[in-house]
Amino acid sequence: MTIRVGVIGTGAIGRDHARRINQVLSGAQVTALTDVNAAAAEAVKAEIAPDAQVFETGAELIQSDAVDAVLVTSSGFTHEDYVLAAIAAGKPCFCEKPLATTADAAKRIVDAEAATGKRLVQVGFMRRYDTGYRMLKRVVDTEIGRPLMVHAAHRNQSVALSYSTQMAIHDTLIHELDIFRWLLEDDYVSAQVVFPRATPHAHEGLRDPQMVLLETAGGVRIDVEIFVNCRYGYDIQCQIVGEEGLANLPDPMAIAMRKDARLQTALLTDWKDRFIDSYDVELADFIKAAANGTAAGPTSWDGYVAAVSADACVAAQEAPGSIVPISLPARPALYG
Ligand code: NAP
Repeated sequence: MTIRVGVIGTGAIGRDHARRINQVLSGAQVTALTDVNAAAAEAVKAEIAPDAQVFETGAELIQSDAVDAVLVTSSGFTHEDYVLAAIAAGKPCFCEKPLATTADAAKRIVDAEAATGKRLVQVGFMRRYDTGYRMLKRVVDTEIGRPLMVHAAHRNQSVALSYSTQMAIHDTLIHELDIFRWLLEDDYVSAQVVFPRATPHAHEGLRDPQMVLLETAGGVRIDVEIFVNCRYGYDIQCQIVGEEGLANLPDPMAIAMRKDARLQTALLTDWKDRFIDSYDVELADFIKAAANGTAAGPTSWDGYVAAVSADACVAAQEAPGSIVPISLPARPALYG
């Protein structure tokens, strides 16, 4: 069976996911495309999916009989309407993060999906599909006893002038917010943000670096550094300290070179390369579940919790040092 996929939003990631579906993975084909920028959709059709139909709107694409499953890869503020429409049409939907740009909007998606009684939405938290994080989770689950502390860092070499202090939470930390919950199987109860001495390399108006301190319901304490002008590379670190031992996220594989009296390994500089393989695995999971008319992987509830937690972190940024509580409504039975 070949799943016929419609892609809404053919910018950077939409185009790349279309390429994955048509050229890397099996079991699906891109049959429909749309973008507010029609030329972008036409370009993806010409280069990647010549047989796909280009629709004027996302709403028409979702309704089309030529579409079994939907990929929402448009700009974040558009996600809610498209995901709700896919749920209403009963079609499995992969939505890139963020699920929605507000917690209330994400909750509307949770409620709509829960009302159908079946999973239809997968959120693009691709780190859950990364080999390194999966290895780390196995060790946390089986080797080091109950986790007590997490020390983590998310460092970018530099960022564009449009990058703001809040984006450090909504665009950068959002992946950590999801992956720690998944690793620990625990929810956050509070967030605090403190700002160390600022780097001179940040542009005006951006507070960089920052440290986010999270506490979970089970009492785990997490410190995560966000440093987006670290200068030396793109670097993701995660160390979990447990009752019986300690586990580190492996660094990406790199050749160890001995040259000029130095032992050296290269670091990545572009975030796009760090989890490149995990995008293939997450979409393969989506296609497999869509063939059964359902969805797998990160849920809309995970997208909602990430949104609630991110809002708390932004509130904590606005009152540095204060502890902002995080509370969640009861989790619908659909999400286990
Ligand atoms: P992008 O290059 O700006 O692409 C977004 C596309 O959506 C643009 O072509 C945009 O057109 C189009 N668009 C805007 N409003 C639309 C609407 N109402 N209907 C249909 N299309 C619309 O952005 P991107 O980097 O691909 O990011 C897209 C989403 O993926 C974002 O939510 C982002 O956070 C997420 N993302 C996730 C990851 C990850 O690691 N999981 C990585 C990258 C991106 P215009 O340019 O004309 O507005």
